[in-house]
Amino acid sequence: MNLEGNEDLSQGPSTTFKLSSDVEVRKRWVERMVRSAKKYHKICPYFDKKTLNCFIKQMKSSKIVKCDRDGKFDGCPIFNQYLEERFEWYKSTNNPLPMDFRDLTSVF
Ligand code: SF4
Repeated sequence: MNLEGNEDLSQGPSTTFKLSSDVEVRKRWVERMVRSAKKYHKICPYFDKKTLNCFIKQMKSSKIVKCDRDGKFDGCPIFNQYLEERFEWYKSTNNPLPMDFRDLTSVF
């Protein structure tokens, strides 16, 4: 946007379109993975029932590693962010995106 509030096209409209398109693809893929995960898991696959810890938070060395959602992963920002990061990894390594949660490679 410039000062008049008009869209700045100096970078070219295709850049903006590609960016929003990529974000949309990532969002749809994350939604698909969450739906797929719900088919196989009643509670979060990254939830440690014994310690009540979150494996993702542990992996990222967060200060608070407890899951504050009792393992309910639908709508969990940590779960969604992890999926977004996996999406970016698949894209950056040119690996095909899995279409089923069971085919997702995790880094634990
Ligand atoms: S915080 Fe989210 S990702 Fe972590 S165990 Fe709980 S529900 Fe799962």
